[in-house]
Amino acid sequence: MILTLSTTHRPATDLGYLLHKNPDHCHSSDLPFGTAHVVYPEATEDRCSMSFLVDIDPVGLVRNSRGPRGNEFSLSQYVNDRPFATSSFMSVALAKVFSTAMGGRSKERPELAEQEIPLEVSLPVVPARGGEAVLRRLFEPLGYDVQATALPLDASFPTWGESRYLSVRLQGDKKVKDLLEHLYVLLPVLDDDKHYWVGNDEVEKLLRRGGAWLGTHPERELIANRYLRHDATLTREAVARLHEDDADDPEQVAETQDAEEEVVERPLSLNQQRLAAVSDAIAASGARRVLDLGCGQGKLIGVLLTLPSIDHVVGIDVSYRSLEIAARRLHLDTMTPRQRERVELLQGSLTYRDRRLDGFDLAAIVEVIEHLDQSRLDSFERVVFAHAHPTHIVITTPNLDYNARFETLPAGTLRHRDHRFEWTRAEFESWATGVATRQGYEVRFSPIGAVDDEVGPPTQMAVFSR
Ligand code: SAH
Repeated sequence: MILTLSTTHRPATDLGYLLHKNPDHCHSSDLPFGTAHVVYPEATEDRCSMSFLVDIDPVGLVRNSRGPRGNEFSLSQYVNDRPFATSSFMSVALAKVFSTAMGGRSKERPELAEQEIPLEVSLPVVPARGGEAVLRRLFEPLGYDVQATALPLDASFPTWGESRYLSVRLQGDKKVKDLLEHLYVLLPVLDDDKHYWVGNDEVEKLLRRGGAWLGTHPERELIANRYLRHDATLTREAVARLHEDDADDPEQVAETQDAEEEVVERPLSLNQQRLAAVSDAIAASGARRVLDLGCGQGKLIGVLLTLPSIDHVVGIDVSYRSLEIAARRLHLDTMTPRQRERVELLQGSLTYRDRRLDGFDLAAIVEVIEHLDQSRLDSFERVVFAHAHPTHIVITTPNLDYNARFETLPAGTLRHRDHRFEWTRAEFESWATGVATRQGYEVRFSPIGAVDDEVGPPTQMAVFSR
């Protein structure tokens, strides 16, 4: 498979400095699945083109593989599109051969590496699930001019129609680093297949290469979902973290208290585990109309909107500022009308009866009760359990027993300055069981995060159902 990258920035031969590959030479690198070659078919002041040729060794691939996957026929290991079509192997090869350029570094031309220059990429055979429409949805929001031609299935038999392969040309003023990152993430997304094992570290890879631009990409959910091979849990984690990673949000910097809590908990990435556990519990309940009470900056709402089973989510918080940040992070103003109808943000308090909370299947109250004065817990119980009275209620709160395991937390301190209390497992279970009995619910408890033999999990969750 081959990719050609050209520029008309003058002197065009500076492309060699940006890619760390001298245009006067040929370069070859061994890869686990073949060999990659870098050659420059043209290198003048006005125009310079670098061709990146990845020569896949199909026999070597078979030798290193665990056999055909599920529904593949046995010869498919030998007879396939891998040698010529631009697949996830291209991403792996780009990251390996152009790692310095993808990191945005250039020893000889550091300023140019930071500059947007006219770039053009041509990819003669790109497998594209969803065809040209998906190609455009992926690259046009990033500012590329996209040209695509569908390749016939077999040129000798025009009546057979078109194949799933496109010949693609992308053009735009871009930093070389950004363009390489876009290709690295989006080529396997377009193919919608990955030819290697996708593990938990794929989320890290996606955020490392896409963190700067994916958060505001209108197709971020499709991208995360396909990149993570449709693994729902990994996708939810990635999307949740993209919302978190809105690094250009100045308000986020001001949220020092929340940041402090995150620093305490970060070694576990507890926040993501909590979001995944809560959204899994919500999905398992079958709820369609969901309340997020004390929604804060809308992290859970962002995840819930990726679940097709959820029709409507209402986030409520006492803090207007948090709701403003949530609206911005969720990109409410640029949502499609259909998506926009699914979500509402309202200001309100959980300790005053509120008719707007009536008629929901489920209420999630994630890391909120510990912010209420203990004397207000009875009002909270009446407002949420007796009046709003949803079918299911999910509550999470820190497990005080676990605090001893946080190395950065001085003994005897709570995790967040605004926490009015933190409960041991016994205290939480006793309170929750009392509420369930009084209000006619059943309650089950689940740990969130790695469970320590002695002190239990870092976060505790109660799921009430009636
Ligand atoms: N659920 C979110 C936010 C947790 S922080 C998350 O998991 O990220 C606690 C949130 O509860 C804050 O946003 C705070 O404004 C809100 N809150 C505190 N007391 C409240 C009350 N009485 N009514 C509604 N929201 C409240």
